[in-house]
Amino acid sequence: MDRRHFIGQSTAAIGLLAGFSGQSRANLQKAEVLVIGGGYGGATAAKYLRLFSNNTAKVTLIEPNASFISCPLSNLVVGGSRTLAELTSPYDNLSKRHGVKIIQDSVIGIDPDKKTVKLASGKKLPYDKVIVSPGVSLLMNSIEGLAQANKAGVTLQAWKAGAETVALHKQLAGMRDGGTFAISIPEAPYRCPPGPYERACQVASYFKQNKPKSKVLILDANQDVTSKGALFKKVWAEQYPGMVEYLPKHNVTAVDAKTKTMKFEIQDDMKADVLNLLPAMSAGEIAVNTGLANSNGRWVNVNFLNFESTAQKDIHVLGDSIQVAYAMPKSGHMANQHAKVAAAAIVAELSDWEVNPAPVLTNTCYSFVNAKEVVHVASVHQYIAAEKTFKPVPGSGGLSPGPTTLEGVYAWGWAHNIWADTLG
Ligand SMILES: Cc1cc2nc3c(=O)[nH]c(=O)nc-3n(C[C@H](O)[C@H](O)[C@H](O)COP(=O)(O)OP(=O)(O)OC[C@H]3O[C@@H](n4cnc5c(N)ncnc54)[C@H](O)[C@@H]3O)c2cc1C
Repeated sequence: MDRRHFIGQSTAAIGLLAGFSGQSRANLQKAEVLVIGGGYGGATAAKYLRLFSNNTAKVTLIEPNASFISCPLSNLVVGGSRTLAELTSPYDNLSKRHGVKIIQDSVIGIDPDKKTVKLASGKKLPYDKVIVSPGVSLLMNSIEGLAQANKAGVTLQAWKAGAETVALHKQLAGMRDGGTFAISIPEAPYRCPPGPYERACQVASYFKQNKPKSKVLILDANQDVTSKGALFKKVWAEQYPGMVEYLPKHNVTAVDAKTKTMKFEIQDDMKADVLNLLPAMSAGEIAVNTGLANSNGRWVNVNFLNFESTAQKDIHVLGDSIQVAYAMPKSGHMANQHAKVAAAAIVAELSDWEVNPAPVLTNTCYSFVNAKEVVHVASVHQYIAAEKTFKPVPGSGGLSPGPTTLEGVYAWGWAHNIWADTLG
């Protein structure tokens, strides 16, 4: 697939590139647009704000990390078949090719009355519009003892790709053959519905080749596998018989780092050699701390036409931090789509144009079931004006019939395309 035709069309914002003139252009040029977080949502928004405004809007991206590390495909690093370097991209093209100003820092506060954001370095920046895309926060206190166990290096989450991803693979490499890897999954919604099941496959694939007497235990707080259920179950039965055990309705409530023991809401205690416990999640800390998380204190409600927070005017929130619409996954692909709708809407608002009343979003999530074979789930989501939300388009999307190596090639194609679309 060629890059120019990838992803972008669905936001129906192409028309924005035509016809900048007079007063509307002046407003757009004067506006300060800040973007908090350079992940799948924020980096895409920064680039597309420049593209859709014909490079006139002033866009500043604030991100603490020096480079972008992709969570998609990071389970392959946990399984040992790929390196983190293969998933890492620089930010420079956003400034060199697109004129985005990049500040390497963290935002520690947003003042919606004064319309400023405060950086960890102490600096304050004014804004007319701010986009907030800080990903998720892991609620370590939702599992008793988890914060201490993480600090001691005993249980790692590796749910934000980086040093923990590599460290988790090292724990597997250091485990005896005949040991047990346990992954626990919080109740949905959480970042990347199929991600934990894909990780279980990657660990099983590594064990099959290197430690065949070992076991993978999936402890799921949900009633059943939350994504691609039949496909994953078939893979576990056919590719990893006797190795992968799936236990639904198992909610981990506490962990003892010394004895590597997990406690559950209902069932008896269990032990494992390598623990990968994923706690409940919420919107990124900055969104919660600034009072944007008005859905149960955890997620941010937005107006789906422009992704503006329903709590604060001129603050637009994207990606994993939002309270999603029905059947909308918390995925990198979806964050990329939110970003384009928001960027188009912001450019339209600052230009006194009508905001697109009928946005459409697409999503494809690929999961590697071993180092080469892949399954996918795809969906299309359309804005329904009468209900002010997105809903899946009936009959759209679908699932793979089963894993293939050809889909493995498509999955890498998807990754290279979305990285180029986001950062290239
Ligand atoms: C193991 C795994 C596998 C996955 N696989 C897939 C997949 O195959 N396909 C898919 O589509 N999705 C996948 N995902 C999900 C995907 O990674 C997320 O949905 C996506 O990253 C969400 O984008 P985001 O912009 O909301 O957050 P992120 O991409 O996490 O970006 C958030 C950014 O904000 C920055 N930030 C946070 N707080 C601040 C602050 N206060 N100031 C400044 N910057 C800040 C962070 O440093 C980070 O760079 C996977 C996730 C995991 C964990």
